[in-house]
Amino acid sequence: MKYSYLLQRSTAYRAALVFSFFLFCIFTSPAQDLQQEVEKVVQEGKTDFMDIFKTLHQNPELGFQEKETAQFIAEHLDSYGYTVTTGIGKTGVVGVLKNGEGPVVMYRTELDALPVLETTDLPYKSTKTVLEDGGSETPVMHACGHDAHMTWMLSAAKYFAEHKNRWKGTLLMLGQPAEEPVLGAEAMVNDGLYTKYDIPEPDYLYGLHSWPLPTGSITAAKGTRMAGTDQLDITFYGVGGHGSSPHLAKDPVMIAVNAITLYQQAVSRMSNPRNPVVLTVGALTAGATNNVIPDKAVAKLNLRWFDVKDREVLVDAIQRINKSVAQMYDLDEQLYPEMKRKGWSYPLVNNDKMTTVIRSDIKTNIPNVKIFTEDDIPAEMGSEDFHHLVIHNKKKNYFYAFVGVVDPVQYEKSMSATGKPPYYNHNGNYQVDPGAIPFGQELAIHGLLSIFNNNFE
Ligand SMILES: [Zn+2]
Ligand SMILES: [Zn+2]
Repeated sequence: MKYSYLLQRSTAYRAALVFSFFLFCIFTSPAQDLQQEVEKVVQEGKTDFMDIFKTLHQNPELGFQEKETAQFIAEHLDSYGYTVTTGIGKTGVVGVLKNGEGPVVMYRTELDALPVLETTDLPYKSTKTVLEDGGSETPVMHACGHDAHMTWMLSAAKYFAEHKNRWKGTLLMLGQPAEEPVLGAEAMVNDGLYTKYDIPEPDYLYGLHSWPLPTGSITAAKGTRMAGTDQLDITFYGVGGHGSSPHLAKDPVMIAVNAITLYQQAVSRMSNPRNPVVLTVGALTAGATNNVIPDKAVAKLNLRWFDVKDREVLVDAIQRINKSVAQMYDLDEQLYPEMKRKGWSYPLVNNDKMTTVIRSDIKTNIPNVKIFTEDDIPAEMGSEDFHHLVIHNKKKNYFYAFVGVVDPVQYEKSMSATGKPPYYNHNGNYQVDPGAIPFGQELAIHGLLSIFNNNFE
């Protein structure tokens, strides 16, 4: 009797154990377990990474001048156990973390800031000035959120070094110089990023960029997301002279102005009207005083396009226009305008499969995240040189997303009052809501985990 009672009790006990294990499995699924782990890691590191963000924000540097910034990133990656190489493409930095057989995944952040005067009243605002390449002094500010991008990367770098049980493969953490002038990614590749430094080519590339959307939201969209771009400098030559005697001179100001006016006809009459195209002359400089005809004028152009055919149409038209205006002014051939091609980039096109899988993993792992897709937000005319990092890569698999960094209350207020967000990238009042620091950290970590733990072939 006693025995059977014990047996009964032990059967019931065992059943209860099995049932509670079953409940445990339901209520703490592997996904939930991971979600809680990442949340905990991010919360515990909150003060440290906020300090890192503020330090970076207060110490901005312009493209290819990011010596201290690169050093800061390198030291942190080194302290987490990465093998670090600096000085790639002037100031680029890469940390490599190997963890067995698996895909090679690269996470990219930009290092550079902008020649913009900060107008926020944040206690950690930038008050720095630097010398531009031309030698003139300019205020400098992280007005495009690259300080947040670096913070997100360092946080993910630390997590992956400390949680090697969660992934297998090789992780590359890349700090790219000079993203703003669209030169740095190409400079790193041309400097032998994948050939000189024992850094493997990535199978997959992942990048996040801050955007004036509310914190807690992300644009994770398939297909073409950003335009291709070209930076072109045109030098118009002439023959200088007295302002009173234009007939004895060849006025480069008039040559430049005529050419610029005609450029817009190439946009409206020659490129395919079904495709968006932009041509902006962002700078036009010539001469020094009222009554002297100068001998030179320089126009700085920027092109945006989605179809390479439109790009060719525009570039060819610019050269024909330059020549025809020079002929109209009867210039000697050696004085015909010169075109210098500078930074450029193809359109940014997200891999469809990676986008679908990563955004579904992000949705599972970050509760309350708001995901905008290609159906909500059309492609931007903005550009990125991100894809230069995989341009010679056979696979060209990448995913690049826009992260909301505006305080949600401020965002709503501004939208209802003006129909616009309170600020935009590249403006002196641009700022990253402190809540977007941990949010971006979680996106970086979960996005990378998703790439390591899925097969996109
Ligand atoms: Zn920017
Ligand atoms: Zn940027």
